Order: sequence, then C-alpha cells, then structure tokens
Amino acid sequence: MTTKTTEVECPYCKNPAKFMTSFEFYGKSYGSNLYVCEPCDARVGTHGKGRTPLGTLADGQLRNLRMMCHAKIDPAWKKGGVRRSTVYSRLQRKMGLSSKEAHIGLFNVNQCRRLLGMLERGEFWND
Ligand SMILES: [Zn+2]
Repeated sequence: MTTKTTEVECPYCKNPAKFMTSFEFYGKSYGSNLYVCEPCDARVGTHGKGRTPLGTLADGQLRNLRMMCHAKIDPAWKKGGVRRSTVYSRLQRKMGLSSKEAHIGLFNVNQCRRLLGMLERGEFWND
C-alpha cells in the first residue's frame, strides 16, 4: 500500500489540482474521488476510491463534449453487440491514436469535436 499523492496538474492554469473525496466536493458520496481546480471549474474523477485520475481535468465545455462522445459510443458496446475492444481499436484507427491515447477521458475539445463529427456523418462506423 502506498499513500503517495499523484500530482495532477490543471491543463488550464498549470497549477496542481486539489484532491477531494466526492463527499467533500458534492456533499454526497459516490464511491470515488476527484481532482478539482476551483478557479478553472475543472475536474476529473478517479478510478474508484483510489488516487488514479480517469483522464485529464476538464472544464464545463470539455466535460459536456466528453459526455456527448460517451453517449454516442458506449451504447455500441453496452448493448449493440460490439465488443468494447473493437470500439476502442476503431477509435484508435479513426483518430490516429495509440491505445494509450484513445480514451475519451484524455480527449481535448478538438478531438471530441472531430469524433462527434465522424459519428454524426456516419463515418465512424464505416471503413
Ligand atoms: Zn486550473
């Protein structure tokens, strides 16, 4: 067991983000923690109760765009009969990313817009 704190930098102001439990932040416990940059209204959740961030900090606009990406992509593997790994290798190929980079939680505004555009035009699911 390690109690080492992960230093998470806010991509907007470059200051270290504050580590908080969901109870401290929302006043309600969701079984996970988060990193918050209050001046930028940027945040990112952690894997469960750990300190590993799920991606990079996102402000309101980026949080919305990432949610839209997930809303369009997740149903394919959650109930569309496509394997999650297939969806993510398609994501890598279409976006020209490595397997480490192909996570919506790591996407910036431009990457989200590109992906949403491909999804809207039906290009994402075509070869
Ligand atoms: Zn910040």
